[in-house]
Amino acid sequence: MWVARDVTAEAALEVRLREAVVGAEAASRAKSEFLSRMSHELRSPLNLVLGFAQVLELDDLAPAQDEAVGHILRAGRHLLDLIDEVLDIDRIESGLLHLDLGPVGVDEVVGDAVNLTWPLAERAGVAVDVSLPRGVAGSQVLGDRQRLLQVLLNLLTNAVRYNRSGGRVEVVGERLGDRLRLRVTDTGPGIPSEAMEGLFEPYVRGQGRSFDGVGVGLSLSRQLMERMGGTIGASSEPGRGSTFTVELPLSTESAPAREAAGRVRPEPRPGPGGGPPFRVLCVEDNADNLALVGEILGRLTAVELLGAADGASGLGLARGERPDLVLLDLHLPDMTGEELLDRLRAEPELAGIPVVVVSADATAGQRRRLEERGVAAYLTKPIEVGRLLDLVEGLRPGGPR
Ligand code: MN
Repeated sequence: MWVARDVTAEAALEVRLREAVVGAEAASRAKSEFLSRMSHELRSPLNLVLGFAQVLELDDLAPAQDEAVGHILRAGRHLLDLIDEVLDIDRIESGLLHLDLGPVGVDEVVGDAVNLTWPLAERAGVAVDVSLPRGVAGSQVLGDRQRLLQVLLNLLTNAVRYNRSGGRVEVVGERLGDRLRLRVTDTGPGIPSEAMEGLFEPYVRGQGRSFDGVGVGLSLSRQLMERMGGTIGASSEPGRGSTFTVELPLSTESAPAREAAGRVRPEPRPGPGGGPPFRVLCVEDNADNLALVGEILGRLTAVELLGAADGASGLGLARGERPDLVLLDLHLPDMTGEELLDRLRAEPELAGIPVVVVSADATAGQRRRLEERGVAAYLTKPIEVGRLLDLVEGLRPGGPR
């Protein structure tokens, strides 16, 4: 028996569906490209705001000025975190976020998160207590150490920020079968029930003034927890406080010993004894950035700065001046920083000069690629002044002083 069926309509529907999928993919790609470009555009001026504020901080300031500079730095870093969070969310949504799953020591990651939050808590007059009972202390969860730390930091800073003076934050660990639960409880104003629903949704802002700015961090935290095979939740009693809970599977493997968190500091070498200055070539097309690097390095004795605004003059200066160190921006008008790196490496007299990348491009892939090619360090803009100073001090003969 033959059954005839008119499939014209179905075929047309299929074509339309396919078109819709292609269109959505293009839109999503365009959004990612836009975000990545925006992040670069926003980071560049922030680099200057944070950089020069840190330069000011190095001076002996009057208390009121010191406090003002502190405000600029904190607000600027907060803005930077927000930019990073938006980028992270986009990376997750486009499936580009890479996680390193492995056993993570609970004491260690909780300890790090608390230590990093401590200055903020102290300033806010909020006490932080940790309680990891037997069975939790010394155990490992399965997760990405860096990302779990990021989630805990987000919860802890929120718990401090949305608290009251003289209030408390409690971090409690408990074991639930083969999972670990961590609770972060604050004594803040609590979350209004109408704000609870969209709390973990990206791009939906919680209602009420006291929730400005938590939206992105919490939705990122949820997506990170879910990608690690965990969960996150919240409960709140208005007027009494909120509790945020994360859960992850326990790991049976033991966590690898952590590398000592150290700064880049090679062995001290013999002192220069009034020898020639340490010469740093900074290849950077943005004149303000170059001025910032000049301000920073000006704090060191016997360091001379050479500046080049594009790749070709950078290469020319390197050949003519043989600097002791090259600071390299990756976006140059005439070539990429990577190309310049190749050219430096191709000339035997220049190949040995240490190169430090200083870039607003903070993507992990880019960073890994350049590190594999042997750059001495990869600094992201906004420049951390202390880190740049340490790095230059460590690389110059005579070592840190
Ligand atoms: Mn540039």
